[in-house]
Amino acid sequence: MRIAIVGAGSIGLAVAWRAAQSGAEVVVHDPDPGSGASRVAAGMIAPVTESHYGEEALGPFMAASADAWPGFALELEAASGLAIGFRDVPTLLVGVEDGDRAEIDRQAELYRFTARNVETLAARVARKVEPLLSHRVRGGVLVPEDRAVDPRAVHDALLIAAERAGVGLRAERVDDLAALDADQVVIAAGCGSANFVGAGAGAGAGAGDSVEAPRDNTGAATDRGGIAARGECSDTAAGDGPIGDRGQSATRWNLPVRPVRGAVLRLRAVGDQPRPRTTVRGYVKGHPIYIVTRESGEIVVGASSDERGFDQRTGTAGAVHDLLRRAIELVPEIAEYHLDEVSVGFRPGTPDNLPLIGRLDPRTVAVTGHYRNGIALIPATAAGVAALLAGEEEVIPAAFDPLRFERSRSEDADRFGRRDGLSGSRFEGAPDSISPHGSDTPDRREDAGGLDPVPRAGTGGPGPGRATRGEAAPVEADADRRKAARVDTTAASRRSAPAEGTTAQQEES
Ligand SMILES: Cc1cc2nc3c(=O)[nH]c(=O)nc-3n(C[C@H](O)[C@H](O)[C@H](O)COP(=O)(O)OP(=O)(O)OC[C@H]3O[C@@H](n4cnc5c(N)ncnc54)[C@H](O)[C@@H]3O)c2cc1C
Repeated sequence: MRIAIVGAGSIGLAVAWRAAQSGAEVVVHDPDPGSGASRVAAGMIAPVTESHYGEEALGPFMAASADAWPGFALELEAASGLAIGFRDVPTLLVGVEDGDRAEIDRQAELYRFTARNVETLAARVARKVEPLLSHRVRGGVLVPEDRAVDPRAVHDALLIAAERAGVGLRAERVDDLAALDADQVVIAAGCGSANFVGAGAGAGAGAGDSVEAPRDNTGAATDRGGIAARGECSDTAAGDGPIGDRGQSATRWNLPVRPVRGAVLRLRAVGDQPRPRTTVRGYVKGHPIYIVTRESGEIVVGASSDERGFDQRTGTAGAVHDLLRRAIELVPEIAEYHLDEVSVGFRPGTPDNLPLIGRLDPRTVAVTGHYRNGIALIPATAAGVAALLAGEEEVIPAAFDPLRFERSRSEDADRFGRRDGLSGSRFEGAPDSISPHGSDTPDRREDAGGLDPVPRAGTGGPGPGRATRGEAAPVEADADRRKAARVDTTAASRRSAPAEGTTAQQEES
């Protein structure tokens, strides 16, 4: 089987590697491999401290992926010959004021639903675990199983491992999926995944059929293709409406992926400078901050979060100042390190913060929208998608269905007997699972500047930006979730979900 993968971030490469190992002929297309979020990320693998109210459907898959990471790391290092900085050190969540301490206690309640090891510590004990903590720290929560890896080393290793497994790499941007000479096409373009044109076998048009020109935000035809230029993110998330007559023009996939900008700082401890033993996460006057330490002496401080479009300039001086000030409040030694780099990336966000993984049509598979957790989710995603491509048992949770928003809109329309301005024939006669995405436009939060402690928790509802803080996604106890990936999810699936509708201040990674 010939597989074309669009996007050589860590997700696309890991899928390519696994698919090639299964005997497929794989080519990855990317004008600038590694120019996306994968080389900006801090690298936390955090099924506990990344669990958030409203994202319960992610829990079992995150847990399965985290559990798969140690073996995946060993295999990747052996296949590539590179060390990838996987660190089996615990995460310590701390707070410096009474309000921060209260926030940590609230988080600890949520963490207990993950059924993983979580231990509340007095301040004195927390400082014993992490001697570099400030004396102002009021207490903490120890999470032994939240680990970290070096995402740049992972990306380097995936490039080598994939190439050694026979994967071809073409330095080119793809706009038209129908033009790819492949049996299966995988969209793994991170936040560049929002708009593609193309048609798959069985979707009403085959390779070489004429396609309608992609449109910009205003609906005007553009010659740029559906996504922005090299290295940029698309600023539309499910932007223009679908192409109606699929017999004459190609499907346009308006995947609801939006870019959520984040800045991280890379610092360096030199010589015998002391460095944190653990991954330190915490709240400083209500604002989240994390400090991830690597064996190499690199220390990553993150992260800001905003949704003001695609400004790829480095973070503002204010954001850098805030990150440093908060990190120094937790770990004063940070002030002594060298500041190596300020980097900005775009997390591929979705309306309900869950990834989009699954079939769009018989030829096209979406693997995107990993938002804050794309590094943590590499092993389970790669295994699950490789199985999907090989036609093996479906192992991706149904909650990640990339057509879920379209389906729910369609169901609403049927239920209320109206079409909300959509073409009445939009889904009529469409083969199962071959519906193009609809016409959501991103609703950027104007109030999100600098450091933002509250990622948007979705409702699972139809459009980005319609969710507000405090709304929770429905908890789907679907049986499919129990089959997540080729890794053991049994324990994770037994975990009970926290109460719906509860809110908590949340952190960004
Ligand atoms: C500041 C920050 C901190 C983060 N920290 C963490 C963390 O601690 N832990 C964690 O698990 N996750 C973290 N993440 C999230 C993680 O980085 C992402 O979820 C993950 O990297 C997504 O990987 P990807 O391969 O899907 O996308 P990307 O890495 O963005 O790669 C997409 C690739 O697609 C290519 N592309 C785009 N459009 C096209 C096209 N039309 N044709 C061909 N190629 C195309 C791009 O050039 C790019 O190389 C963080 C993200 C940010 C921004």
